[in-house]
Amino acid sequence: MDGMRSLQEAALEASTCTRCRLSEGRTQVVYGVGSPSADLMFIGEGPGYHEDKQGEPFVGAAGQLLNQMLAEIEIAREDVYINNVVMCRPPGNRDPYPDEIESCKPWLDERIALIEPSVVVTLGNWATRFILGPRTSISRVRGQRFPWNGRTVIPTFHPAAILHGGGQASSQMAALRSDFQEIRRALAERPEPVEEQLGLF
Ligand code: URA
Repeated sequence: MDGMRSLQEAALEASTCTRCRLSEGRTQVVYGVGSPSADLMFIGEGPGYHEDKQGEPFVGAAGQLLNQMLAEIEIAREDVYINNVVMCRPPGNRDPYPDEIESCKPWLDERIALIEPSVVVTLGNWATRFILGPRTSISRVRGQRFPWNGRTVIPTFHPAAILHGGGQASSQMAALRSDFQEIRRALAERPEPVEEQLGLF
């Protein structure tokens, strides 16, 4: 992208971020992982214990379930981009406070602008409210497509909510599965990038 720095440059600057109090308790900044040109981006809430230790989002139990869901729709983890509303682990895994989300917002906005995903999947209430507004309820909007800044947003349940709820046999899990099928359909229907269209002639 003209006039914009690379994802690597942004990640380097982010690694020393002290814009909010979460920087005090972190082991490291968890910037994001995946393809810099991913068509599909996942946004979670914030790093947990394992993410904070390893510096990568969704590597703990919730990450295993995310990997399983990706495998079910035959998409490789390396081909998507995975990140969170906040880059630093909230103490004791509490929910991020509004001012922490606000401080971290420019970093996430920049990642979206650099990666330009056509489909953005918000995992759980926090990420969904970040994109669709503070009064959104995940159980009302999940599985639906929302146009947002030229992209398609599809909210779904946070994998951790499934793990703490009914697990693999639950109705939430069935909903998660059906939402991932919708993600697959939305990706298949996305318009081709301009260069590829030109290549036809
Ligand atoms: N939960 C999240 O929201 N993000 C992670 O990276 C891991 C667990």
